[in-house]
Amino acid sequence: MRVYNFSAGPAMLPEEVLREAADEMLDYRGTGMSVMEMSHRSKAYAEIIETAEADLRSLLGIPDNYRVLFLQGGASQQFAMIPMNLMKNRVADYIITGQWAKKAHAEAKLYGEANAIASSADKTFSYIPDCSDLPISANADYVYICENNTIYGTKFHELPNTKGKPLVADVSSCFLSEPMDVTRYGVVYGGVQKNIGPAGVVIVIIRDDLVTEDVLPGTPTMLRYKIHADNGSLYNTPPAYGIYICGKVFKWLKARGGLPAMKEYNEKKAAILYDYLDASKLFRGTVEKKDRSLMNVPFVTGSDELDAKFVREATAAGLVNLKGHRTVGGMRASIYNAMPTEGVCELVRFMEKFEAENA
Ligand SMILES: *Cc1c(COP(=O)(O)O)cnc(C)c1O
Repeated sequence: MRVYNFSAGPAMLPEEVLREAADEMLDYRGTGMSVMEMSHRSKAYAEIIETAEADLRSLLGIPDNYRVLFLQGGASQQFAMIPMNLMKNRVADYIITGQWAKKAHAEAKLYGEANAIASSADKTFSYIPDCSDLPISANADYVYICENNTIYGTKFHELPNTKGKPLVADVSSCFLSEPMDVTRYGVVYGGVQKNIGPAGVVIVIIRDDLVTEDVLPGTPTMLRYKIHADNGSLYNTPPAYGIYICGKVFKWLKARGGLPAMKEYNEKKAAILYDYLDASKLFRGTVEKKDRSLMNVPFVTGSDELDAKFVREATAAGLVNLKGHRTVGGMRASIYNAMPTEGVCELVRFMEKFEAENA
């Protein structure tokens, strides 16, 4: 029996995609082998990765002057790869809205002057700071954000004013949950295990002019965007099976009407939970309403004991991985694209019952 898995990541994938992959496991479309056993230089694999890129381009409307790279090392590898490739002046500005931005900022400090120009640490990252007029450094190579804060459940609903500097965004936990205007970014990247596919793949969308030979001295070959861009993400053996699953998820998203339809679906789905939280006398959301994420919903009862009891009883009822991040406590429901509306309805019914029993 499949459970409703509210994990922040790795997270639920569409059941149709998993079934299709299972059907193709032993013999991928007459090749007599699994995609796992296939040369990444084969014709069959070329079609898989090229179709994946084309479908991603059409979903996001990625212009021709952006490159799409399927890389390894997870989102965390990008914390170093970004400064190594982009810090020409050795200066960058970071907006600190949670753990992932903090980690990226700490990593960038290894390579140059990484300034924290705004932060919401004062209120446990429960909001997004006003970024309309920040003190952007005159010689900043880029401005960095974590667009959806997986742990704290906040999202930038408006992008910062970078005053002409390239915007770099970690979109790991909101990737393909709604349309985005790629032209507003220099680099968009995300680990795929939150909303798109199996861990191990990170997708980087980068504007052509930022893909250069001019990288920091000592940058390893494998950490240069240009080597991967010049080789169509096939410089070395890519995370081939993971990319194949991502490709299936792209097809699944297209069949569902693309990202405008996903946005509508995700808004309705999240509203079921947020509306309940706003009306509940026991549970409450921890984030400022205007900054709420559609993907990650943290909430608490106010009592550690009741929180623990809730997580225990929910797990027994097939609603799993609802425990909040260790730095926040309480609960967190991650409701990515593949979480069905019925899963959220089940959760809310369970919360209503729990509230009645523990009033
Ligand atoms: C999960 C996550 C990461 C880390 O991803 P890894 O693939 O484990 O390195 C980074 N940023 C955000 C926003 C995340 O949600």
